[in-house]
Amino acid sequence: MWTYSNPVDVIFGAGEVRKLADLIAGRRFALVTYPEPFFAELGQQLKASAGAPVLTINDVAPNPDYELLREQSARFADEGGEIGVVVALGGGSVIDSAKVFAAANGNFDNVARYLETKTGEEALAFLPIIAVPTTAGTGSEVTCWATVWNEAQGKKYSLAHPRLYPETALVDPELMLKKPTGLTMATGLDALSHSIESIWNVNANPVSARHAVAAAKLIIQALPKVMRDTGNLQLRSDMAEASLCAGLAFSNTKTAIAHNLSYPITLGWGVQHGIACSFTLPTVLRSVIGIGGFREAALQDIFGADLNAGADRLTKFLNDLGVGTRFADHEIPHQYCADIIDEAFAGERGKNFVGTKENFIEAAQQQDVISLSAA
Ligand code: NAD
Repeated sequence: MWTYSNPVDVIFGAGEVRKLADLIAGRRFALVTYPEPFFAELGQQLKASAGAPVLTINDVAPNPDYELLREQSARFADEGGEIGVVVALGGGSVIDSAKVFAAANGNFDNVARYLETKTGEEALAFLPIIAVPTTAGTGSEVTCWATVWNEAQGKKYSLAHPRLYPETALVDPELMLKKPTGLTMATGLDALSHSIESIWNVNANPVSARHAVAAAKLIIQALPKVMRDTGNLQLRSDMAEASLCAGLAFSNTKTAIAHNLSYPITLGWGVQHGIACSFTLPTVLRSVIGIGGFREAALQDIFGADLNAGADRLTKFLNDLGVGTRFADHEIPHQYCADIIDEAFAGERGKNFVGTKENFIEAAQQQDVISLSAA
């Protein structure tokens, strides 16, 4: 028995951002975006078609953190009137921030309590959200969770609630044409990780696996090309579609071990999220050879019947993009590796993983990916 569900209306296509005014449909709206001129210009275009937002939050920073979120959330309370819809125009940091604002509706303490104690759900608001992703990576436009960072405490939380699914995901690849190559790569690898992580996952089902296979194949084919041809609309469209499909896959499964390995690496060594959650993928792939069933079939659909050879190709794919697959490549000292691995397997995302810690360590040691003792 399995179930699959995703309630988000998806509109996809070049130039479709012009439909935003129709989707807002006269509601009082808050606009959430970044401070850069490109986004200010998009905000002006939106104002011309949909009227002025009653509130603009345009200082979203990468990796939404407690301190700024608290201050930004308070601006919703200062606004006073009822907000009919929150429009998120940006990547994962913007869409995740919008989810926090939608749940807080002026009072970040309610969100913090829910994150820290898993209580106080009744105090959360759920303002509707329209998500307009400008990166092709997080899939946040079709998930019901937001990553919330607390750098001061060295922690990462997941705000998750079924009422946080955006009402609409408006995906326009034209918005992605000016993404710099570093961001294109990191976000593309984030999407690759979502797709594969949704397969070696206890929550996987045949529908999530199909979305995942479609996403991974498209990314492996399109990402190296778009890195060389960043202004190519067809390739941008492929990456946007792949990221969306990966989102549809992991919206039903959550992520797994590669993501849980990544969080302390991002917090402790500043490794960008998309890189941190993808450099371990070949090792995790080797560790699940033999799991069988539709999961192994899906992995074989992506990587070929011989998954060891597939893991070699995945390593080369990452290396060719400049991403090393050993912990040392990311300057993680060997004495931290054992703790990172132990904690990753013990955590919630680690428990989503269908493989074992023993097999992961064996695969990692065989390939020189980790050294658990000083050389
Ligand atoms: P981001 O939103 O952090 O943006 C990074 C930078 O990219 C910003 O400074 C922005 O100015 C720039 N940028 C964005 N779009 C651009 C464009 N079209 N052209 C030029 N520059 C652009 O990047 P992200 O990778 O999309 O999001 C990362 C965040 O998402 C992290 O906090 C991560 O934890 C979170 N995340 C959430 C989910 C989820 O399901 N909710 C999944 C994965 C990651």
